[in-house]
Amino acid sequence: MDKIQLLKELEEECKMADLPLKETSTNLVFGKGNSEAKIFFCGEGPGRNEDLQGMPFVGAAGKNLDKLLKEVGLSLNDVYIANILKYRPPENRDPLPNEIKTHTLYLIKQIKVIKPAVVCSLGNYATKFFLANGEVDKMDEQEGITKLHGKVRMIEFDGLRFKLIPLFHPAAIIYNRGLITEWDKDMEIVKLEIAQETLA
Ligand code: URA
Repeated sequence: MDKIQLLKELEEECKMADLPLKETSTNLVFGKGNSEAKIFFCGEGPGRNEDLQGMPFVGAAGKNLDKLLKEVGLSLNDVYIANILKYRPPENRDPLPNEIKTHTLYLIKQIKVIKPAVVCSLGNYATKFFLANGEVDKMDEQEGITKLHGKVRMIEFDGLRFKLIPLFHPAAIIYNRGLITEWDKDMEIVKLEIAQETLA
């Protein structure tokens, strides 16, 4: 079965699952992009627009992400994008440990289908989830995005091996010129890593 089909089946499975936040949400927000991508972007959770449209990163943060990717010659066709949370938390509140635990079962399955060479974690929650090796109780012990952004590390995660590149969350840098400069530098690192993977 090809990856598109596998992802469709997984999305159906996720839709049927009795996940927390399902009751208060409009739509499941599963993922979008190219199932053959070498690079996987992982955000935190859907906001209002994502909930209404059932698609990740379609609101203000998504527009900014599109723009930032375009600046380095990348488009939705080069990446796959999903979130830690598959349903929107009310009023965009922070995710709770049990929500992260249950929703990321599907994130991990998505990564296992796509088998990316590089995972870019957007913001603190996604970064800490991967660095804690998926152990939600250990997320608090991890360093934050301000220290870790742009630092590449090879990680072994649930039987998978990929390069993790933490990045600032695109929502955080919309109005912050200082962070835009940092993001641009980090994206040069992402581009170099992808080029290496393509040559490998
Ligand atoms: N922020 C996220 O982390 N994910 C989205 O899908 C939208 C905004």
